[in-house]
Amino acid sequence: MIRILTKKLKDHFYRFEEYGGPNQVHAYLICGTEKALMIDGLWLAEGLLAEAEKVLRTEYEDYTPQNRAKKLEMLITHGHEDHAGKGMEEFLEAGCVVYLSEKDWLMLAEKYKDRKPQITFLTEKMCGGFTDSGQLVPGQEDGRMDFGSITVQIVKMPGHTPGSLLVWVPEWNTLFTSDAIGAGVLWMQLPECRPLSEYEMQVRRLLVFLENEKARTGIEVKIYPGHAQQIVADGNGVSEDSLAEDGEQEILTYHYVREVLELTEKIQDNPQIGQTKQIDYPGLEHVRVRSVGERLLYDYCYDEDRAR
Ligand SMILES: [Zn+2]
Repeated sequence: MIRILTKKLKDHFYRFEEYGGPNQVHAYLICGTEKALMIDGLWLAEGLLAEAEKVLRTEYEDYTPQNRAKKLEMLITHGHEDHAGKGMEEFLEAGCVVYLSEKDWLMLAEKYKDRKPQITFLTEKMCGGFTDSGQLVPGQEDGRMDFGSITVQIVKMPGHTPGSLLVWVPEWNTLFTSDAIGAGVLWMQLPECRPLSEYEMQVRRLLVFLENEKARTGIEVKIYPGHAQQIVADGNGVSEDSLAEDGEQEILTYHYVREVLELTEKIQDNPQIGQTKQIDYPGLEHVRVRSVGERLLYDYCYDEDRAR
């Protein structure tokens, strides 16, 4: 049975894992003093809205379903259905604001065409971006959101999809990457993926940003991906404080991001380095791709014809 596992990660911060489905996709709820943001909408599991409301009743004394639309919003990180499924339907049905990059609308247009007026589309200008020197240039308007005790900065990172978005919460030193850099598995073979040359630049900028932040604060930014952590916590490149109290590895390390960059470079140098393999996945049956892996990023899928 497909169900949702809810975990409180720390005060005002929750994770919802879709369990028992084709993959273990994650959504996150971050609660400021004024309102809360759900990052992504899971896929096949029902009840994300109900799980969120359980939390909201504990977080906000004045929470009622009547003021839900003022208290609860959703951001879809990219246009893949496993992040924009049942939970997104429930949030739209409930009248919540749902944000999505306009660049990824086409991927979801068929499914959500009747709901289009309810979706808030984020344009390039609204989203922030990293410069070569790792500066975060903030976006305008809706791309910068104030939730009370926390602010949320939406950052564009094209690659996995043209409209892939990251969510940066400076007050928590926390970055949500969804599928933009994968989580042990990285899919860059899909027709909608951007060329690896462009992606490489994006990953490099992200890494410089992360290193700058570490130099400034003394600790690694906490990076939460869009799927169940598939990285082996073997002590090498995995710091003690990346492990939760229950021993679960919840976040990606800088070491992982470096492997993403290194493999992106290696594949472009030699698109034949990977092994051919077949992907069987709902909607993607019998697709042949190349895959190469290192230790943390063990399954980097790409299309060799589009690798240069
Ligand atoms: Zn995806």
